[in-house]
Amino acid sequence: MKDSEKRARIARVNAALKELYPDAECALTWGGDDPWRLLVMARLSAQCTDARVNLTAGPLFDRFPDATAMAAAEVSEVEPYVKSCGLYRRKAEDLVLSSRMLLDRFGGRVPDTMDDLLSLPGVGRKIANLLLGDVFGQGGIVTDTHCIRICGRLGFYPEKEKNPYKIERILLGLIDPAEGPAFCHRIVWFGREVCRAQNPACATCPLAARGLCERRARETKAKGARKNG
Ligand code: SF4
Repeated sequence: MKDSEKRARIARVNAALKELYPDAECALTWGGDDPWRLLVMARLSAQCTDARVNLTAGPLFDRFPDATAMAAAEVSEVEPYVKSCGLYRRKAEDLVLSSRMLLDRFGGRVPDTMDDLLSLPGVGRKIANLLLGDVFGQGGIVTDTHCIRICGRLGFYPEKEKNPYKIERILLGLIDPAEGPAFCHRIVWFGREVCRAQNPACATCPLAARGLCERRARETKAKGARKNG
């Protein structure tokens, strides 16, 4: 597929997803008030489900309601609260150290530039893009597992491509950056409900029905060739 075709396709995918998920928001229920909470929850979500993080967040924020409280904690105090999210020692340490850095370097506020966000312990481009998009209204692409899997299946790059940074650059070249954050939230919902990692619902997929999935087109063609051969 040429880049111009990919641009046209991603615009149609985006429009179809908007119809399917008009109100899609971040799957992490951070409350919308204190960006530090989204930072914390995004860090906890590494190799963990959003549902588990949402459950963990209640008791965690009851005990450590803001960056100041977290910065004053010992890592060992935080660990039991995040244990169920996996990799808990590392995650607890990152939460405490990043909160201390917020107080020391950024006046207690979550910074609004990629470079400053990446300077925080435990923050990579995925988390930084999520914050830039959802909190600061900047465009960006959050290359999480759903985005990587589905956009490959749709044909925007080879399915074997898994490099998040490379994929972020590719998608930014195809979609209006301002649309990026909402597009990524919708992709997450679509990935849970339809285009799952295992057993995707291809037979009833609304994107396939609109001729928007490269993988489905390939499979259908191969099936036809087998039938005719
Ligand atoms: S047809 Fe299947 S692989 Fe393609 S987008 Fe739909 S569910 Fe995913």
